[in-house]
Amino acid sequence: METKEFTGVAPKKAIVTPKTIIHQKFGTKACYTVEEVKESDENDCPGLSIPQKRPCVYRCSLQLPELLVVSGIFKKKKDAEQSAAELAIQKLGIRVDTDDPTPEEAWDSIVARINYLFSENFLSSLHPLSGHIGAILQRKGDLCGSLPVSVLAVYDAKLGSLCKYIDPEVESNPFLVMSYIIKATTKLSGFIATAEQHPWIRKQSPYPEDTVDSLLKQDGLQEPIQVAAVRIPSSEEKYVEAVTLHISSKEYYLNIIANELGLEDASNVLISRNLGKASSETRLFFAAPKSYILDPSSKLPNGKDGLRLDGPSNLRASYLSGHDIAGDAILASIGYTWKCRDLFYEDVAVQSYYRMLIGKTPGGIYKLSREALLASELPSRFTTRVNWRVSFPRDILCNFCRQHRLSEPLFSIISPASKEPTESCGSNLKVADLGRDVIGCVNGAPTTSRPMQSDTEMFQCEVKLLSRCENLIIKCFPKDCFKKQNDAIQNASLKLLVWLNNNFNNTIVPFEPLYETADIFGIQIFSENFFREISHYHSIQNCQQLNQSLGINSSCTTPVKGVCLLKIEGPDSGVCPCNGSLSCISYSVSLVVEGENIKKVIEVTNNFEFEVGVGAVISYVEEVVMQMSVGQSAYFTTSIFTSDLIFASASDSVEMQSLLSSKGCCLEYEINLTKVAEPLEERMEQALFNPSLSKQRVEFAVRHIIESHATTLIDFGCGSGSLLEALLKYQTSLEKIVGVDISPKGLTRAAKVLHSKLVTNSDSGVQLTSIKSLILYEGSITKFGSRLQGFDIGTCLEVIEHMDEDEACLFGDVALSYFCPRILIVSTPNYEYNVVLQRSNLAAQEQYEESGEKTLLQSCKFRNHDHKFEWTREQFGKWASGLAAQHNYNVEISGVGGSADIEPGFASQIAVFKREWSLEDGFKDADMDHQYNKIWEWVCNRKNE
Ligand code: SAH
Ligand code: MG
Repeated sequence: METKEFTGVAPKKAIVTPKTIIHQKFGTKACYTVEEVKESDENDCPGLSIPQKRPCVYRCSLQLPELLVVSGIFKKKKDAEQSAAELAIQKLGIRVDTDDPTPEEAWDSIVARINYLFSENFLSSLHPLSGHIGAILQRKGDLCGSLPVSVLAVYDAKLGSLCKYIDPEVESNPFLVMSYIIKATTKLSGFIATAEQHPWIRKQSPYPEDTVDSLLKQDGLQEPIQVAAVRIPSSEEKYVEAVTLHISSKEYYLNIIANELGLEDASNVLISRNLGKASSETRLFFAAPKSYILDPSSKLPNGKDGLRLDGPSNLRASYLSGHDIAGDAILASIGYTWKCRDLFYEDVAVQSYYRMLIGKTPGGIYKLSREALLASELPSRFTTRVNWRVSFPRDILCNFCRQHRLSEPLFSIISPASKEPTESCGSNLKVADLGRDVIGCVNGAPTTSRPMQSDTEMFQCEVKLLSRCENLIIKCFPKDCFKKQNDAIQNASLKLLVWLNNNFNNTIVPFEPLYETADIFGIQIFSENFFREISHYHSIQNCQQLNQSLGINSSCTTPVKGVCLLKIEGPDSGVCPCNGSLSCISYSVSLVVEGENIKKVIEVTNNFEFEVGVGAVISYVEEVVMQMSVGQSAYFTTSIFTSDLIFASASDSVEMQSLLSSKGCCLEYEINLTKVAEPLEERMEQALFNPSLSKQRVEFAVRHIIESHATTLIDFGCGSGSLLEALLKYQTSLEKIVGVDISPKGLTRAAKVLHSKLVTNSDSGVQLTSIKSLILYEGSITKFGSRLQGFDIGTCLEVIEHMDEDEACLFGDVALSYFCPRILIVSTPNYEYNVVLQRSNLAAQEQYEESGEKTLLQSCKFRNHDHKFEWTREQFGKWASGLAAQHNYNVEISGVGGSADIEPGFASQIAVFKREWSLEDGFKDADMDHQYNKIWEWVCNRKNE
């Protein structure tokens, strides 16, 4: 391993001026004399003697006991003094960085520190180590007073940091500290240090007897205690299992752990750094390698320093601790702490091990923060902060860096040169790479003091991961732009997390595919650092995936991959989740052994809220929930799961181990859908318009339908049938209405709604409409199909923005050249109006943040993240007039919500195309006649009409 640059490792400190250093060394013996330099003295440029008033300049001489130095010339007296001091420092060879000791100084400090740690003074301090020293004084016989070197290395942070000045490698291999401690102790007189068999240190002269006596009296541990701990076997075939440490007051606690590891003495036990939560003392205990290298400067044959492992690596323990561990390891929370002088201990369950394990992956951190290990998933997209639940991506990323002992991530906010949103068609949020302007680094709270410069100002964010030694590991700079700096930060953090998560979840896949996807995520990998810091762990992830062939048995529901026996129960309330809506479920997951009638509940979560369509839950939960309506419950089983997650979720690991090893075990999910909140667009439309914008669109269409005396209507992109349903309530001249949509789910919903409306209408005996036939077709409206020809009026409300722009244009062409309705009504959002929606959001957002309520909305790029584009008035106008001219239609543009005369126009812009000429030659046929699939049909059977 190459030696790293040392500078980045040392803690940052205040800058020390040369004068301070001189003062520290010489005090009042340093004598500064500052003199003003006259022009005649100035011989820097002898050829120049222009008689003009020059500013005063100064020179300083510094007299020290054995040295006189004279500074150069400066405009300020202060600078001259500092310069003189600096010269003196150079001449005397004083080290400038007084905080950083030289390796020799560090050696001396280590020796002094060890001496102090074994002093009587120290014994009465509250330092964690003093508890250990107290405890070793009670060891029996020969071992009385012998302190394992590992304890010294782990519980005294100061020794560790001093060693770093001798050898920066200590940062990545903390056990090197032990070698240095032993070496330093051999320099100390009055100490015994052994290294070969049992590395421990003892002071030769005993502590005074009364000190030891009083210690024995105050020691609280009288009753034997039982501490739950976990064994991580080095063989990966064996399960991680629970062990109990029986600790009595008579025996040194590390001996008990040593016995558990099959070692005879505590000094052969090594202790890892603290692993669990900051508040706990959870550490790994494991056997020291048999051979130590006493002289740390001598390298091993393989080029590695100090400590060598013998035997096979314990991959699970190494993964958890971040450094090599061989042999079995015990995970326990026990030791002396600052908190109290008695032995501290906490139970550690097998479940905790698995939670620590999955907590090292981005997805695992998210799952743990949601307390929903078996249903939640790190979402793949960041839409709005309002829809995000629990830990934000930025916090997860910081947590991830801590877990992997990296520096805190660095975020930079970048403001691309603002472009007029009208400039390009629909892609007004894409920004050229040039002209970007870095606003600043925002570690800590995002800078909110900066006022928004204009409505169109957008932010991008770049995030960097650095090692402890400040080596760049990964850079992620997604192209996405956001109105809020914080959103840009969250988005960049999430992009990076998702990519990293793939890295952790792919245990089999080699790295090439990850490199290939890096581009898509805007990620740049600095390979050497990346492999050293993160990636070599990935293969250790202990994912046991069980996957059996599945017999799909799902009646009247769409099959879901990986799921069988899907049942959805309860009446359909018609309130259904869709992309962008917030769903609330209560669920339970049980482990089931088929044929044996065993069912064990593993995880129960109530009121679990998530955004639909962004992958915030595992895929089959999302797909099943999409088929449900509020009030319904679903049951399904799956045999695809990760055993680590089950162990992390279930409290009884022994039972789970035996169930998982039985044949035909699977997970059973039971889900109740309790609530659905509409997506942003609908919520905005309802909150800001009365009647709601969608109602206004329907009423606009109905007015035109009534005026036109049309008898046939086709609704392009009818969705769940809101317009068709409304038409059943109005008196029009319509007789035949048809809906077309590409989404079977929308059509199923439309059919249900229309069916129940027609049933209630006929039950009540009131027949308002003249409608005799109603049909729903499935298919794309950009294709030609003769079934869609020959209608008087066509409607297409809020559909085109859900297609790509070229498809929207294609639809216009197909509709006016082949379907040729007399009237075509097309509505779509006015992009410019978003400013208004978002401004009212801003107020709403603040309200939301204050009250903690979750009802309100937040700005996003478009009104709905299913939108592929949103047009300005100019863009829409161009499209509509061009289309009309090409097909000889008239067009009028108006809208609903807001007004044409007040900026920024209507909220929804609507084009009404009219054909004033008749189709004498009949309809044109295209080469291909697409067969639209008839999903549902209703025909009126009243006789006398
Ligand atoms: N017109 C409805 C639904 C609007 S949502 C209303 O106003 O409530 C947009 C709808 O367009 C969705 O139902 C979606 O499935 C549909 N859609 C998108 N692309 C389509 C295409 N190429 N062909 C048919 N329908 C499409
Ligand atoms: Mg829409």
